[in-house]
Amino acid sequence: MEEHAVSGHKKTKTVKTIRIDVDKCNGCRACEVICSAFHASPRYSSSNSARSRIRVIHDPLRDIYVPVYAGDYSMAECAGRDKYTIDGKEYDECAFCRASCPSRDLFKEPDSGLPLKCDMCESDPSLSEPMCVQWCLADALVYEEREEEVVEEEQQEEIEIGLEAMANKHGVQKVMDTLARMTKKA
Ligand code: SF4
Ligand code: SF4
Repeated sequence: MEEHAVSGHKKTKTVKTIRIDVDKCNGCRACEVICSAFHASPRYSSSNSARSRIRVIHDPLRDIYVPVYAGDYSMAECAGRDKYTIDGKEYDECAFCRASCPSRDLFKEPDSGLPLKCDMCESDPSLSEPMCVQWCLADALVYEEREEEVVEEEQQEEIEIGLEAMANKHGVQKVMDTLARMTKKA
């Protein structure tokens, strides 16, 4: 996410989203091909859907094609699962989930097992639109940006200043021990 300074304590950040129109997806997997090629090293040297940060949940018999973007890594599986029925189609558990998690192979680098996460094709110079959006000829993926005001930076600074003051007063080791105890209880 890009951030721009604004007057006072407020900042704006650019929120980037990709709107997915599941009804338009035909399962061609062009998005997977270009994502993996764009992130190959060197760039475009190979393409392998297993390395893509977007995967299409594919079930032609049930006419189900759901493009899903790789989100955050999760160390633990969910204790409960969700099932969705939309317009009479029943989707598999986990179908809409973006997490790289221990219960499935999705969104893991095949060689190393490290989690994959969509980075919106961050590059220098930046792209006008992410590669998967550019390559989706069915217009199932639509890129959108919006500006949002945020004030969070200062709160972080305040925590840091508070910790520094405590460390000066009580000593670093004592503060570390206290934090360790608090984390254990949480
Ligand atoms: S490129 Fe578009 S139509 Fe093809 S699988 Fe990806 S999202 Fe679906
Ligand atoms: S936005 Fe870029 S990184 Fe994310 S899935 Fe699409 S091509 Fe891959």
